[in-house]
Amino acid sequence: MDMPATRFHNQAIETADRDALDAIIDGRVRSTVRYAFEHSPFYRSWFEDHGIDPASVKTHEDLLSLPIISGKTLRASQPPETGDFLFRSVGWEEVFTVHETSGTSGAPKAFFLTWQDWERYAEKYARIFLSQGFSRGDRVAICFPYGTNVGANTMTLAARGIGMTIIPQGGCRFPLRILERYHPTGIVGSVFRFLALARELSAAGVRPAESGVSRLVAGGESFAPESRAYVEEIWGCPVHNTYGSTEGTMCGECDRHLGLHVPEDFVHLDIYDPDLASFVPDRECGRIILSTLIGEGERCGTLLLNYDTEDSSSVISREPCACGRTHLRITNPTRDAETFRAGGAFFNRVDVERGVFQRENMEELSGEYEAFLSSGGRGEETVLRVSLEVLDPARIDREGIQGRFIRGFIGENPFLRKASDEGSLTFAFRFAEPGSLEISRLSGRPRRLLDRRA
Ligand SMILES: [Zn+2]
Repeated sequence: MDMPATRFHNQAIETADRDALDAIIDGRVRSTVRYAFEHSPFYRSWFEDHGIDPASVKTHEDLLSLPIISGKTLRASQPPETGDFLFRSVGWEEVFTVHETSGTSGAPKAFFLTWQDWERYAEKYARIFLSQGFSRGDRVAICFPYGTNVGANTMTLAARGIGMTIIPQGGCRFPLRILERYHPTGIVGSVFRFLALARELSAAGVRPAESGVSRLVAGGESFAPESRAYVEEIWGCPVHNTYGSTEGTMCGECDRHLGLHVPEDFVHLDIYDPDLASFVPDRECGRIILSTLIGEGERCGTLLLNYDTEDSSSVISREPCACGRTHLRITNPTRDAETFRAGGAFFNRVDVERGVFQRENMEELSGEYEAFLSSGGRGEETVLRVSLEVLDPARIDREGIQGRFIRGFIGENPFLRKASDEGSLTFAFRFAEPGSLEISRLSGRPRRLLDRRA
């Protein structure tokens, strides 16, 4: 009998009980804060300007009394705003790679990584891959850009310790030859990538479920449970979710799908209310505020304390997971830049996606969509205009799709129900021929829901 595959990368840490984990976290809060004061020009003046004695920050709870910084703070602390990069916390000779993160507005933010940062990032992905059931001998195609974004590169490094083979595809085309020649057992990409690939396979006469791919890893953007369920159905295998960023989040779902595990010894997350005035209790949704954690004597190129990620989530549980891991679990994060208001209701792109991916709709839709908000004729009215790509323009049940979309979009949300009943939110639909959506002509990761209200 074969030995069971190793399920952990660092079992002692990944399954540590809450007291042991808190002791590690608090030790790292102290060493990180000390490192920030000693090595980050930004944080040295930040502590001084706010009259904070770094030695007074002793536990993760003490972070809650410190100010919050944002992408704006990072942009204001780099050239041309300042003479040097104030967040760079090592000398240039220790900077291994330079990255830029775009965010939603403004100049790209510079981000510097040391080799130790790479090793920490890779360990986070190694834990995630193992928790998802990958092991030695797996062959994984990575369909994310190998550019200034760190995800694809650090996933590749993570494979080294596991004994996995990586097939780096980048963000562009994925020829079917890759599947035929190298028989990947897993693919890392976005939900829409998986859908497009499934369509190509089917067109070439291959059923995706018979392609040999046994796991898909989604990342890069949040998605609705409905779109995951549909991708799992057509690929005949599980889709595991990840959440990563150059700033060093990198949370991942284990194969139990009970939320994304936060690597608590590497990164500390607090959830704050939308005004960032106070933190919210577990299970309530709010902004993810991130702090880097490094151990005593470790080096870090760009560290962040109390950084507003502009993403929202909630803590599902701090209790041990069925997989044996004890690190806390969060819901699928959503981008606040993709959250909009109509009347008294808030909704996110993911809600639109839930409307699109209603199972019955998928008999007639490809899943590709684009949507925008416009001002209606009467005062406060917002119109959600949704364009849906159809499989066969000659055969569409327009009314059925529209009804299911609206029911799926509103779901159990009483505020959306009220906005829709009152007419402060209305809907308009367009059914687009295959390949005719604007979004199919845009490269990169185009935004699917835009606000064009006056
Ligand atoms: Zn788990």
